[in-house]
Amino acid sequence: MATRIRARFWDPTGDRYGIPTYPWRMAPPHLLTLRQLATHGLRPGGQGVQAQILWCSRRHGAPGTRAAYLYDVRFALPKRVPTAAQLAALDKANAARRRCSECGTDAGYVIPRCYGMCLDCALGPAPARMEEAA
Ligand SMILES: [Zn+2]
Repeated sequence: MATRIRARFWDPTGDRYGIPTYPWRMAPPHLLTLRQLATHGLRPGGQGVQAQILWCSRRHGAPGTRAAYLYDVRFALPKRVPTAAQLAALDKANAARRRCSECGTDAGYVIPRCYGMCLDCALGPAPARMEEAA
């Protein structure tokens, strides 16, 4: 039974299925699923589906043939993750946006554009504001 299923899904040239097709666990190592690519920090890039894995499954409700699409790792591109330098630059930019131009301290929040300084400098210390409000 197992061998017959394997034979059914063994079509590396794609004669039967249109694209190269392999039984579960029989695909060549350079063909990876999206999830597998992701674990390597890769994305398919511009390539379309290069091959598929077919297997019989009873999961997800009715029994049937399942397919997993494969991409060629040789055409894959690195995922667009920010580099350490980009992250550092972002950090710096955010820190700059939190820094008060008046007292020069990190306010802990982004300085409101309308004040251009931290709220303590713009409106006075918080307790004083409370008193003013009262
Ligand atoms: Zn300030």
